[in-house]
Amino acid sequence: LTRLYGPLTALSNVRVDVMSALVSFDRVFEVLDLSPGIEEKPDAVDIPAGSGRIEFRDVHFRYPSAADVSLATLEDVTALDRTEGAPVLKGVDFTVEPGQMVALVGPSGAGKSTTSMLISRVYDVTEGGVLVGGVDVRDATLSSLRDTIGVVTQDSHLFHETIADNLRYAQPTATDDDIWQALTGAQIADLVRALPDGLDTVVGERGYRFSGGEKQRLAIARLLLKHPSIVILDEATAHLDSESEAAVQRALTTALEGRTALVIAHRLATVRDADLILVLDGGRIVERGRHPDLVAAGGLYAELYRTQFAVEPTPEPAPYREEVE
Ligand code: ADP
Ligand code: MG
Repeated sequence: LTRLYGPLTALSNVRVDVMSALVSFDRVFEVLDLSPGIEEKPDAVDIPAGSGRIEFRDVHFRYPSAADVSLATLEDVTALDRTEGAPVLKGVDFTVEPGQMVALVGPSGAGKSTTSMLISRVYDVTEGGVLVGGVDVRDATLSSLRDTIGVVTQDSHLFHETIADNLRYAQPTATDDDIWQALTGAQIADLVRALPDGLDTVVGERGYRFSGGEKQRLAIARLLLKHPSIVILDEATAHLDSESEAAVQRALTTALEGRTALVIAHRLATVRDADLILVLDGGRIVERGRHPDLVAAGGLYAELYRTQFAVEPTPEPAPYREEVE
């Protein structure tokens, strides 16, 4: 990663390194509970099974130094030279009640992804606290945190292994039947069934290449196998075609059923259905409420509604990226 300390002018070169760092991080976090800098206290307690409540108590956050760049997401790399060390969250307070679906909306750079990463403890807060099931995540065992929370982001990674192996990370004891059930819920069973090797199809660079939407549905299948009580998702579907988007949408509906959800929402349908909408801007929640009330209030939400949610998302070309396994 030493290359990243240099000027970030040759971003296209840096990307590949960061992606590989991300893949291993992703694997480590999801599978082995060993994220750098995040440690379990000797007297850590379990988050009670089935917990649904998420609380942010006056959360302030600034990103750690560039030494931790391996944790940065791809889009964030460009941000490093601009905002490193600046406060990103400036007193964020909210509660998601068990069973609620809460939508987090706001302009790009508002701090939405950062907020979601503090819940699964990718980073620790600088000030304040994040509680899951009444337990400060810094006091929780990493295994109970991992079991309680399922995350689906727009960058879903698959390992260069079989489909079955990729899914069993979520649930090592899952039977083939369990896996088919999860694939069905995630709207991807038909596609897998049509592959000559079925569940034993090797995926990734040297194997079967799934499209972005298909990868996302496999990530949702992984989530269904794990059945966490809390789901966090970044629903960004800008890179998906509309057919793929519809399938992902149906899969997400299944994934959210009966669970507490915090959704970084880009789609009107999701936002309109939310029990609570949090509008984040510049690291602060500037508005909160339900759709009709926020539209009527005529503030930032109403503006986002007009500009971001009400229009059909125009498919952007996906940035060039080395295929990851
Ligand atoms: P959103 O998801 O709402 O678009 P983010 O949470 O990704 O916003 O980013 C919030 C702010 O934090 C932005 O100013 C972004 O540039 C900055 N940021 C994001 N990731 C990092 C990082 N790893 N290091 C430094 N700054 C970052
Ligand atoms: Mg984001």
